[in-house]
Amino acid sequence: MDLSFTNEEVAFKSEVREFIENNLPADVKDRYSRGIHFTKEGQERWQKILNSKGWLAPNWPGEYGGTGWTATQKYIFAQEMGRASAPPPMPFGVSMVGPVIYTFGNQEQKDYYLPRILQSEDWWCQGYSEPGSGSDLASLKTKAVRDGDDYIVNGQKIWTSHAQHANLIFCLVRTDQDVKAQEGISFLLIDMDSPGITLKPIIGLDTEHTLNEVFFDDVRVPVKNRIGEENKGWTYAKFLLGNERTSIARIAQSKLRCEHLREVASAERVDGGLLQDDADFMRKLNQIEVDLMALEYTELRMLSKIEHGETLTAEPSLLKIKGSEIQQRLTELLVESLGMYGAAYEALEVREGRNDQNFAPDYAHGPMAEHLYLRAATIYGGSNEIQRNIISKMVLGL
Ligand SMILES: Cc1cc2nc3c(=O)[nH]c(=O)nc-3n(C[C@H](O)[C@H](O)[C@H](O)COP(=O)(O)OP(=O)(O)OC[C@H]3O[C@@H](n4cnc5c(N)ncnc54)[C@H](O)[C@@H]3O)c2cc1C
Repeated sequence: MDLSFTNEEVAFKSEVREFIENNLPADVKDRYSRGIHFTKEGQERWQKILNSKGWLAPNWPGEYGGTGWTATQKYIFAQEMGRASAPPPMPFGVSMVGPVIYTFGNQEQKDYYLPRILQSEDWWCQGYSEPGSGSDLASLKTKAVRDGDDYIVNGQKIWTSHAQHANLIFCLVRTDQDVKAQEGISFLLIDMDSPGITLKPIIGLDTEHTLNEVFFDDVRVPVKNRIGEENKGWTYAKFLLGNERTSIARIAQSKLRCEHLREVASAERVDGGLLQDDADFMRKLNQIEVDLMALEYTELRMLSKIEHGETLTAEPSLLKIKGSEIQQRLTELLVESLGMYGAAYEALEVREGRNDQNFAPDYAHGPMAEHLYLRAATIYGGSNEIQRNIISKMVLGL
């Protein structure tokens, strides 16, 4: 395994760094670096800048608008994005449904949907989970019954992130009740404006609206909006989940959080002391940094495997578990580092509308919100317990 970069790769890294430094809007960076949710307008603006450079979808094949980069270049790009606090593109279009469309969709679907994802014309959300069908996804009950050239869809999705911004949802639906659960599922692309769709917000621990319930009541969906074959949706769904898990570790972003914590630890506190003299605090920070370094090397080993055409086994699950746990430990420590200022959390909308003096340092705004939201990191993308089951099967043969 060779982990050093070539001269070309070092030059590529500088090019990426310079582009991001010169083009990332300050307001977009500010929100992301604090761990506050994006605004649709800001996210769209940044995605359009990336797309104008041809860098919105590094993982897509060149023929569909991807970059044609090697796995190492993609790694460098992701590292530089994280290092600069540049938000990645919304995953639902670029990393989830886009690859499903170019891998399993027909020509008409590719021609229509892929350019619209690249140009941020469509906003997608993910309609997988249902009440009672999360980890056991194959038990999903939302039903699609064929009626001429349409399916009629009835049922409910839940935990649908950012559905309030989306004009399209990709959905797993049951098209055959009489076969093994995995064999009766189809993958549909549904217009969120279709009559019969209603949304109900779910307000999270962080008091923000990122999650939703989506209800389908006799929703007509053209059969031409089905991906691939009827009842073969489980294959496409699993392909998508593999892509989702590898992008959740967010190592570069965690490294930046560690750097920030070191700065905070060296700044004088109200009582005149320094946090870096607090042995317990520093032990926790040092341990996270060691674990993060180990995770980074695991990711590099995975990269080396990909470059050499080897097949991955449980690596995405491992990255998901360790990456999400580190994110949680880091935000917990960030809140701890703020002492009494950490507890005072206000949603951004509330804070932006106020004209009184902030009593806490500027960097105190964000960590509590992120800490609360990231409680979910060990659940979304397939819970960590489920990832451990995958590892025990694939690696330990249990
Ligand atoms: C913030 C957030 C955003 C999300 N966004 C989306 C989205 O956009 N679209 C979407 O479709 N879904 C989304 N989800 C849903 C997410 O995928 C599910 O929450 C997740 O798969 C777990 O399913 P569940 O909530 O039904 O929990 P359950 O499956 O009921 O699990 C409950 C607990 O039991 C454990 N458990 C279950 N089965 C096993 C087992 N076999 N072995 C060991 N432990 C087990 C789980 O690990 C968990 O701790 C989101 C969730 C969150 C929290």
